Amino acid sequence: MSTLPACPKCHSAYTYQDGDQLSCPECGHEWSAQAAPAAAADEARVIKDAVGNVLQDGDTVTVIKDLKIKGSSLVVKVGTKVKNIRLTDGDHDIDCKIDGIGAMGLKSEFVKKA
Ligand SMILES: [Zn+2]
Repeated sequence: MSTLPACPKCHSAYTYQDGDQLSCPECGHEWSAQAAPAAAADEARVIKDAVGNVLQDGDTVTVIKDLKIKGSSLVVKVGTKVKNIRLTDGDHDIDCKIDGIGAMGLKSEFVKKA
């Protein structure tokens, strides 16, 4: 009986099976035995570019459309290479520094992995 997953709520290892439900005696949480392993929730968020490549810190990406920078007349032109990106949480999920512009945030949907 050591194959049951730990409780996704309190990580107790004392889960038991009750029909097709799993139950946790420690916090009372019940969930479906068919559900995906709870570990998925602890994994880092996957950020993908415009065509579905998974992006990672340190990647080089290319901007796929002209991006106006809010509050300025600057535009990041399509085709601009952006080196050494850093992934973050939030609406603009890529932190980067662009030559001639400086530090800024990009949206992963507007870049393609180089
Ligand atoms: Zn629990």
